[in-house]
Amino acid sequence: MTTGARILIVEDHAPNLMLMEHLLRAFGHTTFSAQDGVEAVSRAKEISPDLILMDLQMPNMDGFEAARQIRALPALAGVPIIAVTASAMVGDRDKILARGFDGYVAKPITPETFVYQIEAFLPKKGPPGGRVA
Ligand code: MN
Repeated sequence: MTTGARILIVEDHAPNLMLMEHLLRAFGHTTFSAQDGVEAVSRAKEISPDLILMDLQMPNMDGFEAARQIRALPALAGVPIIAVTASAMVGDRDKILARGFDGYVAKPITPETFVYQIEAFLPKKGPPGGRVA
């Protein structure tokens, strides 16, 4: 069992957001949310999450621009940012990885494997079973 991480979920579609929150919390993670790219950047600065899940298509500011702005912040330069994208866009894998994302998961997500997919991107830190403050 991975020690709980602080995960920022950026998603403008409420049912998708609620599903991801539910799954991650069930596995002991703490979740925060933002509903567009502008809010994502300000929330990321505020909470300094361990990992960010980023929808790509959102109003006001899309996920590509939000990821670019977050990457430009020295304090957040190393945070894993995972795109959560409609499977129609999975063909754009190279574009996604070239634009600041560490990986992606396809929407609709697969509830049975989603948390494991995300945990694979969490930085390993601290001794087993312990949490580094
Ligand atoms: Mn969206």
